[in-house]
Order: sequence, then C-alpha cells, then structure tokens
Amino acid sequence: MNSNYNERKSFYTLLVSSLFFPIHEYLKCHNSVSVRKQLEISQWWPRQQIEQFQFTRLRRLLFYAQANVPYYHGLFAEIGFNPTEINSLADLKHLPLLDKAKIRNNIDAFKSIKAQKLARFNTGGSSGEPLVFYIGNERISHDVAAKWRATRWWDVDIGDPEIVVWGSPIELDAQDSIRVLRDRLFRSKLLPAFEMSEQKLNIFLKEIQSQRPRMLFGYPSALAHIAGHAEKIGMQMDNLGIRVAFVTSERLYDDQRQQISKVFGCSVANGYGGRDAGFIAHECPVGNMHITAEDIIVEITDHHGIPLPPGQSGEIVITHLASSDFPFIRYRTGDIGSLDDKLCSCGRGLPLLREIQGRSTDFVMAQNGTVMHGLALIYILRNLPQISAFKIIQESLNLTRVWVVSEIGLDPTISEMIKHKFQSRLGQNVEIIIEEVAEIPKEKSGKFRYVMSKVSPN
Ligand SMILES: [Zn+2]
Repeated sequence: MNSNYNERKSFYTLLVSSLFFPIHEYLKCHNSVSVRKQLEISQWWPRQQIEQFQFTRLRRLLFYAQANVPYYHGLFAEIGFNPTEINSLADLKHLPLLDKAKIRNNIDAFKSIKAQKLARFNTGGSSGEPLVFYIGNERISHDVAAKWRATRWWDVDIGDPEIVVWGSPIELDAQDSIRVLRDRLFRSKLLPAFEMSEQKLNIFLKEIQSQRPRMLFGYPSALAHIAGHAEKIGMQMDNLGIRVAFVTSERLYDDQRQQISKVFGCSVANGYGGRDAGFIAHECPVGNMHITAEDIIVEITDHHGIPLPPGQSGEIVITHLASSDFPFIRYRTGDIGSLDDKLCSCGRGLPLLREIQGRSTDFVMAQNGTVMHGLALIYILRNLPQISAFKIIQESLNLTRVWVVSEIGLDPTISEMIKHKFQSRLGQNVEIIIEEVAEIPKEKSGKFRYVMSKVSPN
C-alpha cells in the first residue's frame, strides 16, 4: 500500500468523523459531537474533579426525577427521601436497587413527563432476563459519544473501514436503503454472526481480506472463531493493516484475546456495557478498563445493596447520569465484578473496573453441524412479554431444553411458536422440550449463562 493511498484513506476518515457523522447526528437531534469533545477533556481530569462532576450531575438527575418521573416521585415520597439531603456520592446508597422486574411492572411510570422522543429497546442483558425499556435523545447522544471517545483511544475513528460481526436480527432487518447508504458512507460492513458454517467462515475471511478494515468489532467468541478458522485453513490475515479488534457483550477470555491478536495481527480492546446499562467501561491501550465515569456511576454491591470497597467482588450496579427521560438509578446489571482504585499509567483519571466475571454466552450447533451464536436462540425468547426469564440448554444435537419463567403461564400457541423457531435454527428433527420453572438457578460460579451448550463446536 503506498503512502498516497494511506493519505487518501485518512483524509476520508477525517471527512466522515468531522463532517458526515456530525451531520448525521445533527439530523437525528443528537448532540454527541459536543458531548464527545467535552469527554475528551474530562477524561484527563484528576479523580476528585471527576467525582465532583458526578455529584453535581447526580443531584440534578435526582431533582429532575422527583419532579418529572412518576415512579421516582412516588418512590421518594414513600421512603421519605429528599434529593436536597444528598451530600456526597456515597449517599446514593440510601436509595433502593432497581431491578428489571421493577421496570417491567412500572414501565410507563419510568417515563419522564417531559420526555420528547423515546426510542424503545429490548435486551436479554447478561442476566438472561428480558427487558423492554426506553431511551431518550440525551442518553443516546452520551452513549454514542462515550463509544466514539473510546474508539479514538486506539488511534482509529468513525469513518475508518470497519467490519462488524454481529448477530442482532433487529439490526439485520434494518438493512433498508438508508442504513445501507449510511454504512457505505461510514465504511462499516456488517457480517451476520448467527451462522458460522465452514462455508460462511470462508466468505467472512475473504470479505475481511478484500475490505482491509482498520478495525474489527464483534463478540469475542465470534471473532475468535473466525480467527481459529483462518488458522486452520492457513489463511494469512495479519498483513491487512487491522489495528484493533473491539470486542463486547461477552466475557473476553485470555485465549480468545491471544487468538484474535495473533491471527489478525492487531490489539484487542474489550468493552463492557449494554443497551440497558449504557457504555459502562472500555479498555485503554495500557490494558485497563476505564469507566465512563462522567455519565455512569458504578457501584459494586453485596446482596443487600450495600456498596463494597475496591477489590471486593459484588454485583455491578449503575446509575446513568444522562438518563433523565427514563432514569436508571442504582440499576442491577446482574454481572459480577470489582473496582480498582489504582491510577492507570495512560494518565486518564477515569476510574477502573478490575474484573467483570458475569458475561458469558455460548455457541450452539445445529444438527447439520452449523455453528451459531447462542444469541440466535436468545432473540426468539427475548421479546416475548409472557417470559420473564429463561435459560436454553443444548443437551445434544438432538435435544434442546428451554427453561422458562412465566408469571401468567405460557400459552400453548406460544410454546408451539418457540418450538417451531428453534427447530428452524437447530434442525427440523431436533426435539425441543419447554419446561416452565419457578426460577432459573444460577451456576456455582454465581454467573448466569442464558445459553449452555453441551455440544462442543470444535
Ligand atoms: Zn488507561
């Protein structure tokens, strides 16, 4: 590749990141451009200044929620809480934890009466409990800006050629003309991660070779699987100019990191967060997970919601400071982790998450040998209002068990629909057993895996 081409490439990236993408955001009424600029300044603040900033925003959020959000208006009255009594971040502990059931049972009361435009989302989360919730423009802008900032830590930017290996059928359905145009403009190419047959893997590798992306984005398990296939067939992938692989949505295992890094000849940057909880933390080039502290307060709590000191493991609980349209205050992620109070040598004052143990999804294998991401099955159950929790256990190639928690009971037509959809993914002759249970037991490690396959893909 000659230098001329490189210059042209970076000029195009500059055009996208400083013109096309800002226009795109402006048209969507997002102020992510100015938020990102502010975040790039505040990331270098000393920790005390960041905490003072969090405190100011927390008070503002609590006052706003009391005045404009029916759920919090009622809750504060009920427990006798007054936002004027908040004197430090630690006072947050006087508020109860928020779990998915509370949101599910009060969904409309969580919407601010002043909310202008709310986008509906749903997630299985890391806990496997489906949740429908809403996000306003303020939060979207902040989450986009936080992701954008972290992208730039790695010397890449929006507009650099990117390959995205992702599995959401919602996003795949949205392959309308505007989306296709936007992806082309931003040089982002989506490869669906659902099916990972040998034939598909070959196509993916050829696509990556011809696109020569500067960055990869996807589930660690999916990228590691693609990397493993390249190694198996002896395809060289480390000479394409890939700088970094961004991975998220799952726990990143060390062997996956090594595999991806070796095969693609790039760094691997871990990200932690979700649609529900926001862009919680991201790895910097030194290798530490920095919390998006300007927007998100992370607490690690015990079973009673009591915050634990750095170094101790507990549930990751977040308060999203840009969520006034639909507040997430002391929201339980269901993930287990711990804080780290050391300073990172990169110089950023943003606090650190030491460890995240809770995320794990798995691959499942269809009867014909096609390996697919567990999310292919999760999405079938995720959006059904009758189901409040589930777990999928692939016992063998011929039998998959589905545990379902349903408060109102599962309608036979829904059961049939689930069986039918599972069979269309796993094979028509696969036996699907749906069992209604009172609750889904956690695994010994405390982790929750919503898919557990006893069929090894390798
Ligand atoms: Zn750092």
